[in-house]
Amino acid sequence: MKPKITLLANNAFVKERCVMCGEYFEAGEILPELRDEDNELIDYLCDTCAYEPQNYASKLMEQAQCFENSAALLRRLAQIGVQPPDSDRKLELESLILTRDARRIDKLNSERTRETR
Ligand SMILES: [Zn+2]
Repeated sequence: MKPKITLLANNAFVKERCVMCGEYFEAGEILPELRDEDNELIDYLCDTCAYEPQNYASKLMEQAQCFENSAALLRRLAQIGVQPPDSDRKLELESLILTRDARRIDKLNSERTRETR
């Protein structure tokens, strides 16, 4: 059987991420589901994507490219390593947040990109 889009009578109105365009959407009363050849649920779709069959292929290819780009970035990060957050800065931020001093918090936030370079 060919992969297909089925329609679910939905009663869980949560935010979903469309498997075809990658955008978040509010699940409506009718929720389109993308199912594979074995009728297994792959993920949900937004209405815009579900009801535009002429765009399925191009949107899926675009999403695949996005995932490939993300995968390349994650592989690169895994190879070069990632510096963990500064524990002193965390303590400083925690104490500053308690004071609710917006000016000092903004100043500290503006310094965050400089200190890592
Ligand atoms: Zn979509």
